Amino acid sequence: MKFLFWMKKQQRHYFALMILTIVIIPGCCSAGQQVKEVVGLFYLDNQPISIIIENTKISKIVRKSELENTSVAKIFIAPGFIDNQINGYVSYGFTDEGLTVDKVRKATQALWKVGVTSYLPTVITSSKAQLMENFAILASAAREPDIGLSIPGFHLEGPYINPEPGFRGAHNAKWIRKPDWQEFTDIYNAAEGKIIHVSVAPEQAGAIEFIRKLTEKGIVVALAHHNGSAEDIKKAVDAGADISTHLGNGCANMIHRHENPLWPQLAEDRLMVSLIVDGFHLRPEEVQTFYKVKGPERTVLISDVTQLAGMPPGEYIWDEKTVVLEPEGVIKFPAQNVLAGAAAPVKQGVENIMRYTDCSLADAIHMASRNPARLNGISDRGTLGPGKRADIIQFILDDTGNITIQKTIVAGKLVYEAE
Ligand SMILES: [Zn+2]
Repeated sequence: MKFLFWMKKQQRHYFALMILTIVIIPGCCSAGQQVKEVVGLFYLDNQPISIIIENTKISKIVRKSELENTSVAKIFIAPGFIDNQINGYVSYGFTDEGLTVDKVRKATQALWKVGVTSYLPTVITSSKAQLMENFAILASAAREPDIGLSIPGFHLEGPYINPEPGFRGAHNAKWIRKPDWQEFTDIYNAAEGKIIHVSVAPEQAGAIEFIRKLTEKGIVVALAHHNGSAEDIKKAVDAGADISTHLGNGCANMIHRHENPLWPQLAEDRLMVSLIVDGFHLRPEEVQTFYKVKGPERTVLISDVTQLAGMPPGEYIWDEKTVVLEPEGVIKFPAQNVLAGAAAPVKQGVENIMRYTDCSLADAIHMASRNPARLNGISDRGTLGPGKRADIIQFILDDTGNITIQKTIVAGKLVYEAE
């Protein structure tokens, strides 16, 4: 302990925290092992804490007052990220032909490395047969004892969206159609009832009745890829719509300055918004404005990553289209001059929203964990407290605002540790 005396006060704190961090879980340091304790700075107030875990849940959180001024050590503890829009990852697309449980496993394991502890695999516009087949595979994956814990349900985006160029984004026009309750019921049954989130265009014929039925079934209704009027949007919200999917995207480049879908969705207090804050899908001032209107309670950060995320830059053929993964991490669809999904995990949204809006780390984490958990009815996750499932990330937040995940814990088990 003499060694500690030589050190400056701040260094002592840092050193002490490092020791605590190293001993966090005796013998815990291989993937899949039970974690008993995690120590670091609490994301809500930057103060040192110890989280005690029993089996799959948090049993208590203990304050570590002796480490109060750990300004040097920026090893934080927060709930794992919950991303309600992941189309695929590391080459595996959830809408692709040939999806397997093993591909879902590989994508899930790669997502753990970037702090995602739960996500909604998202299947987009395609044929009924393809939707049924892929949701059935996802339902099998969700039953797997390891990765199933990270898959609380699924997101269906399309096929009931606006077919016009721009509004449909990168969705294949060939498969876009009007809402059809019988078809949806067949797809829902193939998914073993695990579709918990549906993105739909409110102006399509039959959409309002469709939204009402989804709401009665307890499914989260999101408005997406649409050109709904103020009246369409009000009717959709009256029928139960909860959120606007990736506001500012899935929209034509040229829109009317008064009559466009953005204003009524911003003006409607009952609608949350999900935002892709990867630095490409929205300009900083759009994020700033949307955040000022909706605030940290009604904003959800999503990645919208596709299977190209995590792949080398270059040109790829995807769903019969040529798309380009740019080196800086964005996927473009040059033929229509639109973006074709994102390549940055939601961690980057957490970093960027702090940069753009000056919101606190706590608020940024709320938007990537608590809010999506609440929205999707995943009540055992999204915050840290006694009785909550032990879905925890430990990360370094450096001076440039970058987050580096050190450990990811799902239901009390270590699923990732940085080397
Ligand atoms: Zn979309």
